[in-house]
Amino acid sequence: MCSNFFVEIDQGRKISKERRVVTYEECQKNHAARIGKYAVDGCCEFMPTGGEGSGAAFRCAACGCHRNFHKKVVHDVGTYYDSWSKSSTPK
Ligand SMILES: [Zn+2]
Repeated sequence: MCSNFFVEIDQGRKISKERRVVTYEECQKNHAARIGKYAVDGCCEFMPTGGEGSGAAFRCAACGCHRNFHKKVVHDVGTYYDSWSKSSTPK
C-alpha cells in the first residue's frame, strides 16, 4: 500500500490564490535499462533524504533516486487548506 508520506504545499509564487498539493508517488526509474528491460525498484513513495532547501531534499531516502523519477501528482485543492490552518479563524 502506498501512502503519500511526503506532501509539498505549493501556495503559488505568482498566483497567490492557486493552491496545490504536490505528492511524489511511486518511483519509475528503470533500473534495467542497460539490459533493455524494465524494472523499477519498488519504491512507492518519495521520502526526502534531507531538509527542504538542501540538495538532499530531492534525493529519495528509500531508493536513492532523484525526485524526478517519482511520479508527480498535483492535487488542486483550491481553498481546501483554509480549513487546515486554524491559526486565523475570527469569531
Ligand atoms: Zn527509485
